[in-house]
Amino acid sequence: MSRSLNLLIGLLLVYAVGMLAPIVPTGKPTTALRFGFLDIGQGDAILIQTPDGYNALIDTGANIGRLRQELARFLPMPMRLDLLVLTHPDLDHFGAAEELVFSSEVGVVMTVDTAKSDWRLQGLNAAILQRVGGIMYINDNHDFRLGCCTEFDVLWPGDNLITKRETEVNEVSVAFVVKYNKFRAFLGGDLGSEAELQALHNCDPTLCEVYLHKLGHHGSKYSSSLDVLKATQPRLAVVSAGWGNLYGHPHQDVLQRLSDLNVEVWRTDLQGTIYLVTDGLSFVSVESLKSLEKKELKI
Ligand SMILES: [Zn+2]
Repeated sequence: MSRSLNLLIGLLLVYAVGMLAPIVPTGKPTTALRFGFLDIGQGDAILIQTPDGYNALIDTGANIGRLRQELARFLPMPMRLDLLVLTHPDLDHFGAAEELVFSSEVGVVMTVDTAKSDWRLQGLNAAILQRVGGIMYINDNHDFRLGCCTEFDVLWPGDNLITKRETEVNEVSVAFVVKYNKFRAFLGGDLGSEAELQALHNCDPTLCEVYLHKLGHHGSKYSSSLDVLKATQPRLAVVSAGWGNLYGHPHQDVLQRLSDLNVEVWRTDLQGTIYLVTDGLSFVSVESLKSLEKKELKI
């Protein structure tokens, strides 16, 4: 497929909300939505596989070796991704993206527009331009659907927000709710609690409630406040953090909040890659691919 066609597909994918994306998915259709919260060390890398076979990766972490190793559990070679979303330009979220783009086929790349620029970002931008054809900058006006039935309700950043930031890029992380039937998951990059709350104000109040909440900023105590967690009312929380990380993520205060609210916590630092499967209607299955601990839950 030509790069220009890839870019065209990307435009159709994003702007034709409500339409079936007119591309052949890279994976095999199933009846379930699947998430892989990949254990790539300190950082985020979340694979989403739609029921009709589309593959989306949210962030790449910083270590291409770890990323490829974990992706290989889910994707056949040669590796193909329909969509890559880079939530914000910090290394623990985009550091492996340049090598991934060069070594895999990526259909569309989305990220947030900031003024941050360094040699790593310049290299990444050049790689995306060469291999994908361009970057799509998104904000909360860019809700989209991937395939037939998996919706991405983009909540943040607002288009009125100053996104041309060079610093504090955590606070303009792309945040969205992924929806499939009755199942909802909130993914908010590295947003702090204040921005998380503002982002959640951008969704219908009843739709802010989610089944799964990926904790903000790897479980930092400045994210996922009590107010945030009361807004999303998750059944499950996932922490994406590196084993023995120097930041103390996830913070004890956050774990206490989750405990107080009876939210079940799964952690990549302790349990390795977390694999979640749901039909969006009746069941959610969560499994640690490291310890093989597994739970079957009802929606
Ligand atoms: Zn981060």
